[in-house]
Amino acid sequence: MMRAILLHLSENKKLAPLIMANSVSRRVAQRFVAGDNLDDAITAAREVNLARRSASLDLLGENVSDEAGARAAAELDANVSLKLTQLGLDLNESLCEELLEGIVAHASAQGNFVRVDMEGSPYTQRTVAIVKRVRAKYDGVGTVMQSYLYRTEQDLKDLLSVGCRIRLCKGAYKEPPDVAFPKKSDVDANYVKLMKILLPSGVYHGIATHDPAMIDATKGFVKQQGIGLDRFEFQMLYGIRTDLQKQLIREGYRLRVYIPFGTDWFPYFMRRLAERPANMTFFLRSLVPHSSHSDPPAF
Ligand SMILES: Cc1cc2nc3c(=O)[nH]c(=O)nc-3n(C[C@H](O)[C@H](O)[C@H](O)COP(=O)(O)OP(=O)(O)OC[C@H]3O[C@@H](n4cnc5c(N)ncnc54)[C@H](O)[C@@H]3O)c2cc1C
Repeated sequence: MMRAILLHLSENKKLAPLIMANSVSRRVAQRFVAGDNLDDAITAAREVNLARRSASLDLLGENVSDEAGARAAAELDANVSLKLTQLGLDLNESLCEELLEGIVAHASAQGNFVRVDMEGSPYTQRTVAIVKRVRAKYDGVGTVMQSYLYRTEQDLKDLLSVGCRIRLCKGAYKEPPDVAFPKKSDVDANYVKLMKILLPSGVYHGIATHDPAMIDATKGFVKQQGIGLDRFEFQMLYGIRTDLQKQLIREGYRLRVYIPFGTDWFPYFMRRLAERPANMTFFLRSLVPHSSHSDPPAF
């Protein structure tokens, strides 16, 4: 119930400026968002790299570009994540594809990689189609599959047939029961099923989750199948389960941290609150002046 309300509010354009102007919510959001600009993201990515983790930078807000920033970013072990609605998918599909192709061409020329995030189900079909077309011209692009959607197994096989790199996640948007599994147990079972299709494919994929059960299932499967630990990577979000991130690195797994930055952080922040009731409780307690909110939840 709380998840549904928060996901609904995440799309509320009137609420966004109110929450973003509030100093307390800005402070809580800093747990999930590296900062407003590219310099903040580079600092966060350096820290992540120092801890032997890779990074994926995701610009949530307006573009910031300068040569020093670009050079600093180029030295990082980091790729790029973006959303097609940021590139105008709602306005003009062919312009969006053209812009994506330009970015992927540039990234490929630098030996880098662009990950197209997956958004709500109204965008799934178009995202898969655009990524497939751009992937036919450049290797350096991949996308995300969500285990909560009924259609995902078919999409995943379709994308695998063209050798596309996939990030597997559970899915973060509010979806109706005719398109997505309503029960968490079904979403989890489908996640494990899809992971078992992806990892033996020989393509380098990302297993994106903070769920110890999904991580254990993956570890068990790669061990049983004799899949090398350098043949895939785990992926987690900036500021979430850093303890688990460090543990996986100690155990010899690869791990990439998704680092969002930018000024347009409201929908991302609301989706993170929706994922864990403790995050919401912490946020609400923070809004009460002088309340004892010194113990944040274990992100
Ligand atoms: C690298 C990465 C990229 C992603 N990209 C996309 C995308 O493109 N499209 C999309 O729809 N979704 C994306 N997601 C979000 C994803 O779909 C889930 O909403 C999110 O990862 C929570 O699911 P979970 O697998 O961690 O499992 P859950 O079952 O939600 O959580 C398992 C456990 O993880 C911890 N946890 C999970 N979320 C949080 C949180 N916010 N704060 C604190 N602890 C938490 C808790 O301990 C929780 O019990 C991405 C996730 C990651 C890690």
